Amino acid sequence: MIRLPNPCLVVLVGPSGSGKSHWADASFLAGQVVSADRLRALVGEGEHDQRAGTDAFAVLDLVLDRRLKRKLLTVVDTLGLDQARRRQYVALARRHRMPVVAVTFDAPAAECRARNAHRHRPVPAKVLAAQLKQWPSVLDAVGEDGFDAVHTAGPVKIVDPQLLTALDSARRQQEEPVPLDFGLHVVSYTWPGGPLEIGARLAAIARAAEDAGFSYLSVMDHFLQIPGIGRRWEEMLDGWTTLGYVAGCTTRIKLLTLVTGVTYRNVAHLGKIAATLDVLSGGRAVCGIGAAWNDDEHHAYGWRFPPVKERFKLLEDALQLLPLMWGPGAPAFEGQVVNVPEAICYPRPLQERIPILIGGSGEKKTLRLVARYGDACNLFGDVGTVRHKLAVLHRHCEVFGRDPADVRVTQLSGVFVGDEPRAVMPSRVVVGSVDEHIGRYRELAEAGVQTAFVRLANLGDTAPVHEFGKVIQAFG
Ligand code: GDP
Ligand code: MG
Repeated sequence: MIRLPNPCLVVLVGPSGSGKSHWADASFLAGQVVSADRLRALVGEGEHDQRAGTDAFAVLDLVLDRRLKRKLLTVVDTLGLDQARRRQYVALARRHRMPVVAVTFDAPAAECRARNAHRHRPVPAKVLAAQLKQWPSVLDAVGEDGFDAVHTAGPVKIVDPQLLTALDSARRQQEEPVPLDFGLHVVSYTWPGGPLEIGARLAAIARAAEDAGFSYLSVMDHFLQIPGIGRRWEEMLDGWTTLGYVAGCTTRIKLLTLVTGVTYRNVAHLGKIAATLDVLSGGRAVCGIGAAWNDDEHHAYGWRFPPVKERFKLLEDALQLLPLMWGPGAPAFEGQVVNVPEAICYPRPLQERIPILIGGSGEKKTLRLVARYGDACNLFGDVGTVRHKLAVLHRHCEVFGRDPADVRVTQLSGVFVGDEPRAVMPSRVVVGSVDEHIGRYRELAEAGVQTAFVRLANLGDTAPVHEFGKVIQAFG
């Protein structure tokens, strides 16, 4: 099975009659295949109209450029025998930062001749003979053209780029497992049954998450549903109140917001809320916090949404104040923008220090704050992004003399386990099989991720939680 990342540029290479167009039409959507023959029919008299070749290729080049600009999966159905052209396609893909692969069609010469002869307008025998003569040297040369991969034509599976090497990585995980923790991230309460059933469904989901081996359950700290997840008027629960409820429904799972916007509450009050959750949950609270971004909510509720510089001052104050709140006594705190005469909070949390997870991967400010104050970071993105962000974090750690091992690395991604066509998925969801997800998480673990927060695209009952449990088991 040929695994092709979506998007990528696919360049077909093979003599006339070798089955290129047949394969392309069977494996891709009509709009994804850009065929020189069809363009000849569009700008000339028909697919056979060789005099329209120059114009057809001019249009082809234009279409390729525009499609790659939009990051659309594209198949170039030309002979692919011309090395200069192949290399031009590779260069174009590079320019658009798109993977590019060649697919070769090594059909026996007799078969190409027979298929050609059957065509309504066959390619002249002399022309085909020249192609077939050239073919062995093309097969040798195509490996030197700079393609990310050269495949022999066969069945195709189009996969998320994050799953390209996942099956090999899953095998690695099976043979020599590495550990990885998981968190279930709940972002929507728009579930069957409406508000009347939210409580019962959430309780069942939380218990299922514990049973499935999730170590954390996180919720958003939003008041209106956010863009990218749903519509503004869809169901949203207060995050910390929800965690209090989940604490009462569960016994082991750790609880956090991913993450609390520092602007939403008086910071001392936030410390009190987190301490309360920690006490009532038996020491299971984590304090997720970030600089906040959703000006829409602030506007709706009449909260001030300070400029980004001030929000970061507020965040830094909070990172200093919260541990004081959770510590003994009643110290005064004077920060850059926050003054608290008495950082007093009794009962103190059960945990000596509630872990602070700082959300966001801004390289100059956020990751610097993580290095200085954080117990954990929370990153988005693929393996390459995670590696890059961690390199930045480690440089900040060096500055502060912080051991990077003291900062837990967490990552958040949207996931669907199954074969659902990508089209029906909300944005930024990795769709794949259990094995593919195991492989992807193996790669993330190798990049340094210790806790993977999982936003299950089809959450609403316990079934997707149980299903994801199969992934967790591979890391148990
Ligand atoms: P191209 O010149 O490389 O694009 O070759 P085509 O894809 O147009 O194939 C030439 C002829 O062979 C067409 O009539 C196809 O329908 C037929 N053909 C190509 N591949 C297959 C195949 O795998 N199975 C069958 N049955 N016919 C094929
Ligand atoms: Mg063709």
